Amino acid sequence: MRESLVEVRDLCFARRQGGHVQQILRNLTLELAAGEVVVLTGPSGSGKSTLLTIAGGLRSATEGSVRVLGTEVVNSRERDRVALRRRIGFIFQQHNLAPALTVAQNIQMGLQLSGDHRRKDAKQRIQQAAEAIGLGAHLHKLPRQLSGGQQQRAGIARALINEPKLVLADEPTASLDRTSGELVVGLFNQLAASG
Ligand code: ADP
Ligand code: MG
Repeated sequence: MRESLVEVRDLCFARRQGGHVQQILRNLTLELAAGEVVVLTGPSGSGKSTLLTIAGGLRSATEGSVRVLGTEVVNSRERDRVALRRRIGFIFQQHNLAPALTVAQNIQMGLQLSGDHRRKDAKQRIQQAAEAIGLGAHLHKLPRQLSGGQQQRAGIARALINEPKLVLADEPTASLDRTSGELVVGLFNQLAASG
């Protein structure tokens, strides 16, 4: 059997707003295995981003169970969620690049997260990650000198540089043109196939 990376059991999540409570996730159960590419679909506002942020340890939940890479995140300590976040590659809907840093420096931030940035081959890994996603010639540029799609791809390179076991991506191709979108999906499939 393949290793289970995410196990969600009976997860409930509600938001309190003013006087009333909005139930966003109700008794959700799902399981994701290593090597899988899973696409979550649903109308806007149905709770997809909420689920990703809970699974990624970015938001706490109090009901049900969510085990991610062996860590229980429901009712967990902040310290444990921080440790978990370092082991996950996040790709956000907005690329969240640091505007004052070059593409290479932004990608390098992904390495620093894992405490792995002193590796001798860091420069080479950054170059490879950028080339894999078609940004090899743009490493010295600032985010504002790139198109929206190129910025999104730099965010993807930053998330993947640590070769995380789990990548959580929130609408990663929404701001990309068709060709860039296909490049990104192809890259995900390739990474999943290699485990
Ligand atoms: P999706 O990603 O599927 O579009 P979200 O997880 O972002 O959905 O949102 C789920 C629900 O949570 C929505 O119905 C929205 O009303 C509510 N919501 C999302 N973000 C906030 C917020 N910052 N404050 C209050 N309610 C929010
Ligand atoms: Mg969303």
